[in-house]
Amino acid sequence: MSHTTQINAKRLLERLETLAGRGALPGGGVSRMTLTPEDKSGRDLMRTWFEEAGLTVQVDAAGNMFGLTPGRESEPHVLTGSHLDTVATGGPYDGALGVVGGLEAVQSLRESGRDLPSPLGVAVFTNEEGVRFFPDMLGSLVFTGDLALDKALICLDADGIPLGRALADIGYDGSHTPGHVPVKAFMELHIEQGPILDAKGLSIGVVKGVQGIHWTEYTLSGATNHAGTTPMDMRRDALLGAAEAVVFARRLAGEIGNGQRATIGSLKVAPCLSNVVAEKVTLITDLRNADMGLLQQAQTMMEDEIAAICKRHGLESLAKELVLVDAVDFDPRIVGMVQEQADVLGLSSMPMISGAGHDAQIMAGKFPTGMIFVPSKDGVSHNVREHTEPDDLVAGTRVLAGVLAGLAGQ
Ligand SMILES: [Zn+2]
Repeated sequence: MSHTTQINAKRLLERLETLAGRGALPGGGVSRMTLTPEDKSGRDLMRTWFEEAGLTVQVDAAGNMFGLTPGRESEPHVLTGSHLDTVATGGPYDGALGVVGGLEAVQSLRESGRDLPSPLGVAVFTNEEGVRFFPDMLGSLVFTGDLALDKALICLDADGIPLGRALADIGYDGSHTPGHVPVKAFMELHIEQGPILDAKGLSIGVVKGVQGIHWTEYTLSGATNHAGTTPMDMRRDALLGAAEAVVFARRLAGEIGNGQRATIGSLKVAPCLSNVVAEKVTLITDLRNADMGLLQQAQTMMEDEIAAICKRHGLESLAKELVLVDAVDFDPRIVGMVQEQADVLGLSSMPMISGAGHDAQIMAGKFPTGMIFVPSKDGVSHNVREHTEPDDLVAGTRVLAGVLAGLAGQ
């Protein structure tokens, strides 16, 4: 792995720009919601580029599209890829970089004439964002068998259209059985979607894993009463309890440290009137950590504190678990290869944990998997202002090409 792989930077940047024109919003940004005419347009473009690169195009019944080394479809692939769908007001690189950069890496390796023992492939997964259909990362979940195809096909969008019909409407209801591509390893190149690399002025994030997530909804109930006539020491103020929980969340993250995140970003207050003591508040705690033991510790501390707050203020509390997603560790050998490639190419880098969800975390449950991050300007994503410098787009793709060559060469 001492030699580096050349990529065609001009082709990469031109394709990214062309793709950003599919679903372009006036004034900047991209809207390619999954399985819309804009998504079809992006997919069609990608398909022509796969064919131009000499890859065999296959689409499965969940709409996942693959560009594969021809004639070797039954062998275990070193697969890379991401998604082409965006949120309603998205940017040009979230997902798109992993697909276009993935193709550039694979195409460059093929053009280099290097003899690689394993075939290469590029994947485009359906409905990663989860904006139109729930769950997010649906395509990769069906590919790995973690979500049954028949269940996926009947997922409804807000207009009651099932995913199966939306696939047929744009002609991406493919004939292959999901999971049909044998996978030796999977790599995803993605923008960071957070501020760390940009703030530190680094090019490459060596992604070690994805945080676990725990969401719990607490309903705190007290007594509603007149703001003027109820003495302060005779109140059971649910909003006071919720406010103390918000402050505690910040302290909790500091006490646990180790990348712990703790957020209460949603409060529903009833009756929510300026001259009435609040009777009921529904709040959601969002706790995240890459270490599931610490995440559990944070959850217990939060539960204990809310119980103590309720006791102090005469409130009752009802808890309901909303989301619990396990943390993911990427393959340590692949993480090492990403670091080595960044070093060989003389690129500045740091190890990091992904704060957002990605198809790679689903693939990691079944296959040796890794991820590469490049900076997001000011940490902005899921937004029309999303931006990554061309040098960083190229750097990430070069690292990807090197890692794919290493994986396919073994
Ligand atoms: Zn993404």
